[in-house]
Order: sequence, then structure tokens, then C-alpha cells
Amino acid sequence: MSIPSTPITCRDSTWLVSCARDGALTPAEASQLAAHLAGCVACQVASRQLVQLFAQLDTLLAREDPPA
Ligand SMILES: [Zn+2]
Repeated sequence: MSIPSTPITCRDSTWLVSCARDGALTPAEASQLAAHLAGCVACQVASRQLVQLFAQLDTLLAREDPPA
């Protein structure tokens, strides 16, 4: 049982950002993440970097030719 307003740590936040990429967050997790990002500049920066990293990975993985 978890309460949506339960504070999460920066580590949890990073994990949730990576999970959110796959749309795997529950509404409670999404609200926890949003609440943490609203008050944590470090995680705002980290989440943006993660999103960019994932976008680059998607581009690489979407290539038809496997890396030699
Ligand atoms: Zn944080």
C-alpha cells in the first residue's frame, strides 16, 4: 500500500523516469515523480538528460544495420 504523496528519493526519481519511458508508471508513481521533479532541480536536469539519452538509444536501436 502506498500513498500518492509519499516523498521519493532522487534515486527513485531516476528509476521512475526510466520506467516512464515505457509508460509503465502507475498513476501514483507518476504523481510521486511529478512532485519530486517539481522540487528537485537536479532531477529535472537528470530527467531531461535521460530522455535525450533514451531518444538517442531508440535511434540507434531503430537502425536496420546492426553495429559491425
Ligand atoms: Zn531529486
